[in-house]
Amino acid sequence: MKRTLLVALPTILIIATAFWLSGCSDKSGKPAPGSDATAPAGQAHEDHDSHAHEDQDSHAEAPLTENDVELPSSFTKGIDRLEALHHEIEQEIEANQLSKVHRTAEELALVAKRMKQLARNEIDEQKQADVGRLCNQLAALFPTIDEVADAGEKAETKQFSAEIEGIIGKLRDLARAK
Ligand SMILES: [Zn+2]
Repeated sequence: MKRTLLVALPTILIIATAFWLSGCSDKSGKPAPGSDATAPAGQAHEDHDSHAHEDQDSHAEAPLTENDVELPSSFTKGIDRLEALHHEIEQEIEANQLSKVHRTAEELALVAKRMKQLARNEIDEQKQADVGRLCNQLAALFPTIDEVADAGEKAETKQFSAEIEGIIGKLRDLARAK
């Protein structure tokens, strides 16, 4: 008796699933009660799309991935790259091209994440916690500086850019003292 039930169980599940799926497709086109019919497909960029973008050129594109940018091969090279990207951000602010800060800061965040990995082999163990924290801070500044840059807040963007510069300086000090 029990054995028969066990054998029959997968069949019951298949039938139940088919039933459930057909029930679902019947509703296609009509949003289920309580569900958000306007939920966007690109969840990863959802938050970002909610703020105003004056320049659709860079913002309409998908988020950068590690394959889109040239990542540093060593921690020291990574610091040079961070400084170059920070310099680029400063130039964009000065030129009143705040919408361009998005991509530069996004790339800077990716470089910072890679540097946290590079630090494991290149930086003394007792400094790795500090380095990791600073890299996390840099990566976390991307959405923050992007939000004020997109809002056209030049002074605030400059402020966060200075914060980025300060963190890069601390990373350089830590790398020197290794
Ligand atoms: Zn943006």
